Amino acid sequence: GTLAVLRRRPKQNINRAMNKKSAIVTRFAPSPTGHLHLGHAYSAWFAQRAAEESGGRFLLRIEDIDQTRCRPEYETVVLDDLAWLVLTWEEPVRRQSDHMADYQAALTKLEEMDLIYPCFCSRKEIRAEIERINEAPHDAPNKSNGDKRGPVYPGTCRRLYQDDREMRVFAGEAYALRLNMQKAIYLVEQKRGNLSWLDLDQGEQRATPEVFGDVVLARKDEPTSYHLSVTVDDAAQGINLITRGEDLRDVTHVHCLLQALLDFETPDYRFHHLLTDRDGKRFAKRDKSLTLQTLREEGKSLAEVKAMAKWA
Ligand code: GLU
Repeated sequence: GTLAVLRRRPKQNINRAMNKKSAIVTRFAPSPTGHLHLGHAYSAWFAQRAAEESGGRFLLRIEDIDQTRCRPEYETVVLDDLAWLVLTWEEPVRRQSDHMADYQAALTKLEEMDLIYPCFCSRKEIRAEIERINEAPHDAPNKSNGDKRGPVYPGTCRRLYQDDREMRVFAGEAYALRLNMQKAIYLVEQKRGNLSWLDLDQGEQRATPEVFGDVVLARKDEPTSYHLSVTVDDAAQGINLITRGEDLRDVTHVHCLLQALLDFETPDYRFHHLLTDRDGKRFAKRDKSLTLQTLREEGKSLAEVKAMAKWA
């Protein structure tokens, strides 16, 4: 009720004030879905330096929610690679697969706010629906969501009748959970006004998560999603400066909204450029030649690897 709201406010302000004064906490968050390459080394050094410069803390998180793509043997190599780069991190390392209950709790909270709904659509059905909409003369064209994770969901399952929804869940049909984006933004703006985050290099950024549409918060095959788990983890680990490659800049719009909905502090952000190979192409995990393991086995020195990554 009202009293609870009044009681909560001063505490939030105190936390925020203390947060600004306390040391920086950053993290490197690799997914053990393959071998790390030079680009990852750059990203890890970047995160550690950002913490070091302020006498802060550097943490490690293993992002292993994707059970079909993550392998324990990759995790072992990741840890060896990072040690070889002379990175040191605090123990214990947070492993996402150990924290499914945290993601579930966040989903429950959003469910209680009536902000999520089951989505039964397959990728193919979503594509077909978007084509249908785009062919209809009076509808707005479907926008890209900017994060290269597929097109904006047209909202098909948001419009299902509750009976229909319950019947399909009861029948055991597989479903993802999606955020009702419009409703979520409305709720947050009622409570806090406009959403924004601070990019330490580019200044205050206004969040516009609506361009992402109804994002997936729990996948059909996993009880969580990238957006949900990183938001929950960064809050749980007390990360107050998130550093990432600039390919992930746009997801901040979504994360900023989730932080507000879940009553987390919004951390500050910094994005670094991505390393490219001689042809100007981005490094990918599938390119074997520049994996840290290969460089290590070739007997490269740390100085040589830093020079290759243009890390000064
Ligand atoms: N785990 C993700 C990756 O390895 C990135 C983590 C993040 O969002 O910062 O690509």
